[in-house]
Amino acid sequence: MNAPHPNAGPSSEKAGDRHLAVTHEVINQPPMLENYNLYEQDIALQEAVKREGAGKAENDLKTFGALAGDAATIDLGFRANNNKPVFNTHDRFGHRIDEVDFHPSYHELMRIAFENDLHSSPWKHPGKGAHVSRAAKYYLHSQVEAAHCCPVTMTFAAIPSIRKQPELAALWESRILANSYDARNLPDSQKSSVSIGMAMTEKQGGSDVRANSTLAYPTGKAGPGQAYELVGHKWFVSAPMCDAFLVLAQATGGLSCFLMPRWRPDGTKNPWQIQQLKNKMGNVANASSEVELRGALAWMIGEEGRGVPTIIEMVAMTRFDCMIGSSAGMRQAVAQATHHSRHRSAFGSRLIDQPLMQNVLADLALESEAALAYTMRVARALDNQDQEHERLFARLATPVGKYWICKRAPNHAYESMECIGGSGVMEDCIMPRLFRESPVNAIWEGSGNVQCLDTLRAIHKEPETLDAFFREAAQAKGTDYRFDQFLAQLQNDFADVSDLQYRARNLVDRLALAMQASLLLRNGDKAVADAFCASRLQSNGGMNYGNLPSGIDAAAIIKRATPIVG
Ligand SMILES: Cc1cc2nc3c(=O)[nH]c(=O)nc-3n(C[C@H](O)[C@H](O)[C@H](O)COP(=O)(O)OP(=O)(O)OC[C@H]3O[C@@H](n4cnc5c(N)ncnc54)[C@H](O)[C@@H]3O)c2cc1C
Repeated sequence: MNAPHPNAGPSSEKAGDRHLAVTHEVINQPPMLENYNLYEQDIALQEAVKREGAGKAENDLKTFGALAGDAATIDLGFRANNNKPVFNTHDRFGHRIDEVDFHPSYHELMRIAFENDLHSSPWKHPGKGAHVSRAAKYYLHSQVEAAHCCPVTMTFAAIPSIRKQPELAALWESRILANSYDARNLPDSQKSSVSIGMAMTEKQGGSDVRANSTLAYPTGKAGPGQAYELVGHKWFVSAPMCDAFLVLAQATGGLSCFLMPRWRPDGTKNPWQIQQLKNKMGNVANASSEVELRGALAWMIGEEGRGVPTIIEMVAMTRFDCMIGSSAGMRQAVAQATHHSRHRSAFGSRLIDQPLMQNVLADLALESEAALAYTMRVARALDNQDQEHERLFARLATPVGKYWICKRAPNHAYESMECIGGSGVMEDCIMPRLFRESPVNAIWEGSGNVQCLDTLRAIHKEPETLDAFFREAAQAKGTDYRFDQFLAQLQNDFADVSDLQYRARNLVDRLALAMQASLLLRNGDKAVADAFCASRLQSNGGMNYGNLPSGIDAAAIIKRATPIVG
């Protein structure tokens, strides 16, 4: 008989005369964060939903939260990203088809989004809590997979712009709002549900869309609602399989907005051709393309020469969705980091119980809670646009929030990844995807500087927007001396109008912080509000996450944020 293998412990097995050594037992690894209810395990979200007027959507959100946390739904997100869309120019007989082939998991995610009205509910059922409940659902769904949310958002956001041309709205609106998803590459006349994209950006100018060189030629009469043919190019067109696009092009009277379907009413292919798909660092489940318009038929929406004010209604909504999306990315990152730390031990105790890790986790949780509180407050403002304060508030809070929340996401994703250690860098973990996804919301729909300039533009055009913003923030006055000092200094700095553009980032940063602090102080958890004021409104010199000062109740902040799974 052979001598026992030196490494064979009590669990070594004997097969014939060979010893099969069991090399090791897998211990100290967390269970998968799946098969949990994303809504029920998110205290801050539940509070925000009730606070901002969507309490009646609770049951629906619970059902949706279970779907979003289901292992099968989470798996769709991984598959949609592991199988990039493929572009086919022609069919095998040589016909130009311009078809993008998506993995079935992408279509399944789109089906879930459309069947749950993520593209439509506030337009179908406006009123109290409509935008709030949709934002909450989008927040849950986007945590599963963010890239496919791009066409969901664009379809949702197109409605206010399309309504500016009532006869076109009559033709398209009911099919845009239908709660079904039809991925077939067919003329829209054969479809009962459609999706909408947008094509503004050209090579020579993205932020500066007035530099657009695409030309619009009337096919008969010119003007709003009339048919044109568009000739030019677009440098970025995401989700190119959408059924129609809102496009900017130069008409005789200046830059105008058009609705351009992918097919002509006679059932022939509208001559706009995809040149290639973009090779993106993130957002890969969603295709983005470069296209040429070779006399593509389109109808003018809104007044000739007023293309930017027409499409800006759509852009305002996409900017709002960027806020939801980045808040959702941060929430998912916190869920992953806290879940891991709760199950992983090092140096004799769980990571979540170790003081330095507590400082980092609580800091990450604060950022995520503040982003959510801000986003949901804006959602309530969107539900109440008939009230002047809410209208003024939303006008300023949208560029401020889009700038701030989206810009906070990339470093947050990276720090959350580091909480998980080496396994957080691996592609079978969602963290690399969250990280690669994180910059895009800050860049598209108006990059950071553009949002800051838009903030200044809003204040310049309508100074009441700043009054409304400060009025809203000041509701927390007297609850925290740090907040009072911060707000007073900020208001004071706005009195100085010299080199405003140069200082815009600093001012917008502080507007966002003041509003987040105000919302947390008034409505949030005490420990969260205290830590936010201590770390964001006062500087102790540190720059990275994990700089919360002593005396903060980090354990309470982490407890709120940690999903209990396993
Ligand atoms: C993945 C992806 C998908 C996209 N999909 C679409 C789409 O579907 N449809 C579409 O129309 N577009 C789309 N875009 C384009 C996107 O909206 C633009 O990239 C964006 O608006 C910036 O424009 P740009 O790339 O031309 O950069 P530029 O306009 O050249 O800006 C470069 C930088 O300069 C800054 N800047 C610009 N003006 C000023 C100023 N006056 N002062 C200070 N700083 C300034 C900007 O903030 C930015 O940081 C997409 C982009 C990406 C990355």
